[in-house]
Amino acid sequence: MRPACASLDAVALAHNFAEVRALTKARIMAIVKANGYGHGLVWVAKTLTKADAFGVASLEEGLELRAAGIQQEICLLEGFFDAREIPVILHHGLTPVIHDHYQVEALKAVRAEQRCDAWIKVDTGMHRLGFDPSEIPRVVADLNALPCIARLGLLSHLACAEEVDSAATQHQIDTFEKLVFPGFRRSLANSAGIVHWRAAHADFVRPGLMLYGALLKAPNTPAPVRLKPVMTLHSRLISVRWRRAGDAIGYGGTYRCPQDMPVGVVGVGYGDGYPREFHTGVSVLVRGRRAPVIGRVSMDMLTIDLRGVAGAQVGDEVILWGQGLPVEEVAHAAGTIPYTLLCGLTQRLPRRERP
Ligand SMILES: *Cc1c(COP(=O)(O)O)cnc(C)c1O
Repeated sequence: MRPACASLDAVALAHNFAEVRALTKARIMAIVKANGYGHGLVWVAKTLTKADAFGVASLEEGLELRAAGIQQEICLLEGFFDAREIPVILHHGLTPVIHDHYQVEALKAVRAEQRCDAWIKVDTGMHRLGFDPSEIPRVVADLNALPCIARLGLLSHLACAEEVDSAATQHQIDTFEKLVFPGFRRSLANSAGIVHWRAAHADFVRPGLMLYGALLKAPNTPAPVRLKPVMTLHSRLISVRWRRAGDAIGYGGTYRCPQDMPVGVVGVGYGDGYPREFHTGVSVLVRGRRAPVIGRVSMDMLTIDLRGVAGAQVGDEVILWGQGLPVEEVAHAAGTIPYTLLCGLTQRLPRRERP
């Protein structure tokens, strides 16, 4: 069996959820789209037994959760893409976000007996999805008149919440607060909003990334919450060989050994979702020490400089990110964000809950 694996820590996931609870009085909609940010949709939802609701990107994900026995509210963050999804949404008690007129029109045509809750999405400044604030009273009136709609809520999304003193975020919060409808549930904050913008908490917060133990933050600022990595991506050394000074390593021979040195081969590569491009150096952990990745990352393997790891041998565990090596750090070196690394793990990589 290939040694590459993502180990999942249920205790860390529950811990991060409790950190969110400690930060807010709002209810918590745990965001589990994109296969639970790569951790496994059903595994995450089943572990987060205390979540008040779950947020997913599609009907397919919502149905997977219902099939797994998840009882909480399941919010479809982009609503439905096609009117044919509406009867299924009603049947399974899912909660769509309504962000555009074509969705309102489709709901007007529904003759079903069943009803569902819905969130109306308002565009407070991100300019991606949602109605303009000026359209909201009309949309509310239209939806309130429909027999298939039960409770309504108002939802918006922050574009720059990780910028701690962003005027744009304050403007989004102010715009959101001006829209008041009695009895409506309200939701605005993602992870960065929860951590940095208390005024954005409203009734429902929507943490994604922070549940998985990561956070976007400016370099060299202290961590505002104590999160634990849920996923550790690891593999093993499958070869250790001494190379001569001047030897070229891997495809394209892009790395030349500056001296005689031990080079390790790790059984993980871009075929598992490990990034192929690095803008700055990145290291892995072997025997608790950092070993720089050298040469190009291959599909199933990568090569590392073992000069700093005394006694390294075939079979040693290698940590690519997670425990002891924050995924934020690896993402930064790859010129990307932790979201893409976590979501980008491929199908072939086994996920196993850590005992
Ligand atoms: C993905 C998503 C979130 C979660 O964002 P994080 O930055 O991962 O916390 C919240 N709300 C909406 C609408 C989303 O699409």
